[in-house]
Amino acid sequence: MTGTVKNWAGNITYSAKEVHRPRSLDELASIVAGSARVRVLGSGHSFNEIADPGPGGTLVSLADLPPAVEVDAAARTVRVFGGVRYAELARRVHERGLALPNMASLPHISVAGSVATGTHGSGVGNGPLAAAVREVELLTADGTAVVIGRDEERFGGAVTSLGALGVVTALTLDLEPAFDVEQYVFTELPLAGLDFEAVMGAAYSVSLFTDWREPGFRQVWVKRRTDRALPGFPWAEPATRALHPVPGMPAGNCTEQFGVPGPWHERLPHFRAEFTPSSGAELQSEYLMPRSSAPAALAALDAIRADVAPVLQTCEVRTVAADAQWLSPSYGRDTVAVHFTWVEDTAAVLPVVRRVEEALDGFGARPHWGKVFTVPASVLRERYPRLADFRALAGELDPAGKFRNAFVDGVLDA
Ligand SMILES: Cc1cc2nc3c(=O)[nH]c(=O)nc-3n(C[C@H](O)[C@H](O)[C@H](O)COP(=O)(O)OP(=O)(O)OC[C@H]3O[C@@H](n4cnc5c(N)ncnc54)[C@H](O)[C@@H]3O)c2cc1C
Repeated sequence: MTGTVKNWAGNITYSAKEVHRPRSLDELASIVAGSARVRVLGSGHSFNEIADPGPGGTLVSLADLPPAVEVDAAARTVRVFGGVRYAELARRVHERGLALPNMASLPHISVAGSVATGTHGSGVGNGPLAAAVREVELLTADGTAVVIGRDEERFGGAVTSLGALGVVTALTLDLEPAFDVEQYVFTELPLAGLDFEAVMGAAYSVSLFTDWREPGFRQVWVKRRTDRALPGFPWAEPATRALHPVPGMPAGNCTEQFGVPGPWHERLPHFRAEFTPSSGAELQSEYLMPRSSAPAALAALDAIRADVAPVLQTCEVRTVAADAQWLSPSYGRDTVAVHFTWVEDTAAVLPVVRRVEEALDGFGARPHWGKVFTVPASVLRERYPRLADFRALAGELDPAGKFRNAFVDGVLDA
């Protein structure tokens, strides 16, 4: 495939004019051996230059490798190849009566690319998607295959790795027995007097949505596992029609609402695999902060909503349980994640992104690695206490920096 290569959103044109699509691991190894700089392209759903190999670099997609998904039902694990997307993984796992603990808002994204950036869903008890990974298989710069398991110290850097350690050829994930989920949508939750802990803890996964045009939240999405209690949701009224989180978009693109029970993988994402997720014409940013700061952080955003609303399609508030990946935006702290789906206009959006970052600065906000942000690398370094450990691991596995790019250099060398 040659020509201009862009990300899903179309706001990033990668420096490489070609995406190499090896059909075997041997072919992949020879591409890596013959390139000075390599980055792997997952499904291209990131909104910044994280996957860009830079001028003269090589961009590799694993989408044409055999899409292996090997379920071990007895061990309750699955080994999945580097190019596979969550939609396919979830279908294959569910067929065997098993489940992943959580999913992001969409199933279209690749597993390896998602865990590399700390992608997450919601739920006070749910870590990011990387938390399910128990083993990583890497093709490193010198062509050696390296396997890193959860019992190793260096595993802390191996999953949420920004693609800087090598090509992730396979991941092994923990599974659990399949479960059903009911999804309910409520409308108009006030910000004043919000009991954030009670609301977000009301079900397995809870998301708040607002356009910041008025105070408070326009929608609340509540996903209840049918094998757990439903304590009730007294804070807002049930929606009277199916809704899309982006105003004006068709609800038919979204997963089933009104409490109709269904399999985990058809309820935990907001968007159905067979439709365009979200609005399709957008930019995104997201900031992850200690969950205890949620009320103050939401008040800080409410104070600037007149600046935010004009370039916003929707803002989603989620929770993520603390995890142990050194570069995870939810590393070491139970987290509130505040996400922004902006209009598709970089020039108009960037000043507002900076305004949001100023407002959230005092909360130690860590930006989502796959979205638009302007937080300087020097500040990021302060917000990741294990960054030096990650830098050492990258130096050990990739001493010549074959898998580095400007984005990663900025993070590691600031
Ligand atoms: C509509 C939409 C909705 C979204 N919803 C959510 C959400 O609910 N929650 C959330 O947290 N994020 C969300 N995101 C962000 C998204 O999950 C991340 O950008 C994620 O990284 C996308 O995965 P990808 O495969 O497209 O990654 P890419 O953008 O292709 O790559 C991301 C990084 O992973 C690396 N990489 C990919 N595959 C490999 C591999 N096999 N080996 C080594 N490195 C690799 C790349 O080099 C790059 O550095 C959303 C994005 C979009 C467009």
